[in-house]
Amino acid sequence: MTNPAVLTSLSDIEPLAEYELQLKQIMQLEPTQVSQAEKSQRLLTVLNFLHQHHQQHCQHYQNICVVNQQQQPAASLEALPFLAVRLFKQLELLSIESEQVFKVLQSSGTTSQTAARVFLDKDTSSRQSKTLVNILQRTIGKQRLPMLIIDSPNIVKDPKFSARAAGIQGLAFFGRDHRYALDDNMQPNWPVIEEFVSKYAEQPVLIFGFTFMLWAYFIQVLQQQNKQLNLLQAIVLHSGGWKKLEEQKVDNVTFKAQIKHIIGSTKVHNFYGMAEQVGTIFVECSQGHLHAPLLADVIVRNPYDMSVCDIGQQGIIQVLSALPTSYPGFSLLTEDMGRITTIDTCPCGQKGKTIAIDGRLPQTEVRGCSDTQSGAVT
Ligand SMILES: [Zn+2]
Repeated sequence: MTNPAVLTSLSDIEPLAEYELQLKQIMQLEPTQVSQAEKSQRLLTVLNFLHQHHQQHCQHYQNICVVNQQQQPAASLEALPFLAVRLFKQLELLSIESEQVFKVLQSSGTTSQTAARVFLDKDTSSRQSKTLVNILQRTIGKQRLPMLIIDSPNIVKDPKFSARAAGIQGLAFFGRDHRYALDDNMQPNWPVIEEFVSKYAEQPVLIFGFTFMLWAYFIQVLQQQNKQLNLLQAIVLHSGGWKKLEEQKVDNVTFKAQIKHIIGSTKVHNFYGMAEQVGTIFVECSQGHLHAPLLADVIVRNPYDMSVCDIGQQGIIQVLSALPTSYPGFSLLTEDMGRITTIDTCPCGQKGKTIAIDGRLPQTEVRGCSDTQSGAVT
């Protein structure tokens, strides 16, 4: 597709500089200090900038806004237009010239469907990395920790698993001395695990895996073999959905209790994020709530009429991210069901909204995250 305009004139550059400045200011705030009301107001300014920016630079986005009569700046976050996340599978949605594309992220790679494609330029990609660092450092600290990855090293070489590999590579940045805990047959690689455990037993380490893989290929297998790692200071991060665990009647409390028993760690954090909004991930706090980060927000909508749900009411999750300028993905209607669990009242002290994810929207396409295959993850 062709883009309607190129970012050349001064009048375009000035708002962009102002937008970058506002992002910087928001990122420097303390999540324990910023109420939802203040956050919404600050985000509305930057998201309205993105709403205008993408109308100017992405013909598809402009058309959608025209059809829905949503060209004007929105008066609230809830009034901003939102795109169904599956549009990224159906259309090439970008707000830059093709020669500015720095990286293309694919959200899935199963053969039965077209993968979503997300086009990044250097600015958006760099914003995503900085934001991810800002968010994750609050959970895992500033030091890079020795890292055990619950996956097979082959995964990063196989293009079939590009979404999974991208997730691992994104997180690998936060660790050092990386070790893969599984072999090519997805069995625990005991020499590697034992060496890691004996080397780092007395210090903080980082363990990352996709939720179902961590459970099925690691925790359960170690339990069957009566193994315990005693990595008491490990920080365990996991992501990718609960569907398969729910089928096995494993809830978050059970999951954490088993990790404590097998790995030895009590610091277990789920996070919620997607390829269409890399950077602004929702990390689970000590109270088990997924927090919207400073540069993102969440709205839950009634699946029948798209009205905004009340706190505690189940609906479709809409995610807002202040980061993307290279593609119009700042306001997306996901295919996940969930609820707002608290606003400014989480006992952990962080303000803003928290959510719980209840699963996938019924009858949506299988999307290719770690839930979707019986044997392997794409
Ligand atoms: Zn909390």
